[in-house]
Amino acid sequence: MTNKLRYFVANWKMYGHLNSVNSLNKVIKFKKKNKKAKNLKIIYCPPFTLIHPFIQKLKKTNIKTGAQNCSFGSTYGPPTGSINSMMIKSLKCEYVILGHSEKRAKGENDNIINKKIISATESKLKVIFCIGETSKQKRKKLTKKILLSQLSKGLKKVKNKKNILIAYEPVWSIGSGIIPKSQDLENTTNFIKLFLINNMKFKNPKILYGGSVNTKNISLLKKITNLDGFLIGGASQNSNKFIDIIKKTFN
Ligand code: PEP
Repeated sequence: MTNKLRYFVANWKMYGHLNSVNSLNKVIKFKKKNKKAKNLKIIYCPPFTLIHPFIQKLKKTNIKTGAQNCSFGSTYGPPTGSINSMMIKSLKCEYVILGHSEKRAKGENDNIINKKIISATESKLKVIFCIGETSKQKRKKLTKKILLSQLSKGLKKVKNKKNILIAYEPVWSIGSGIIPKSQDLENTTNFIKLFLINNMKFKNPKILYGGSVNTKNISLLKKITNLDGFLIGGASQNSNKFIDIIKKTFN
């Protein structure tokens, strides 16, 4: 049986320096030598400053690179401090994370995220689109309403659906060490999948889970039937832990 859990996205957040490229050696070796790892999609999303060094380091491997955000608008322009999707693509970077809750918390709304998704797909980047409810919304039983709103607003007028991966990341789980109950995660990811198929014209949606994935809880998380992989923050910065998480998903 082939493993359905194929995507392992490493979100390095605002960590890393030039020497950090050396920590990729172990993962490169693992991907090359381990038969079960060959067909996996391992994607590193370092900060902007490290995208080029990561691409150089990974160019003879089939490990991919992604950005953690981008500006919208696909032409050059004045917004100081911004980097657009075209600039990211020009580095031969293939993915971009959009809608991360750490950016939403700083004011990115669904409308801005939607413009970014459109711009990124037009630049032929694959998008890892993050959605998720806060703890307050969860307490008020608003999870489904919030996810539905984030998905329909974020994906409005987005054409190339096959280049969109959805990362369900409950905000209360990111960095907290707490993960959803398995049954809740099964229900929520099923809800997302059905909504994408029935309302957003997705043919074969890919859904990742993100939030405190670690070497211990992965044995529970790997059993969630709707998942195609994981978006991993903290634990992905340590190559041994990252490899261990991946290995534990093997059948
Ligand atoms: C993230 O930031 O996308 C994330 C999932 O973080 P962590 O794994 O550290 O909770």
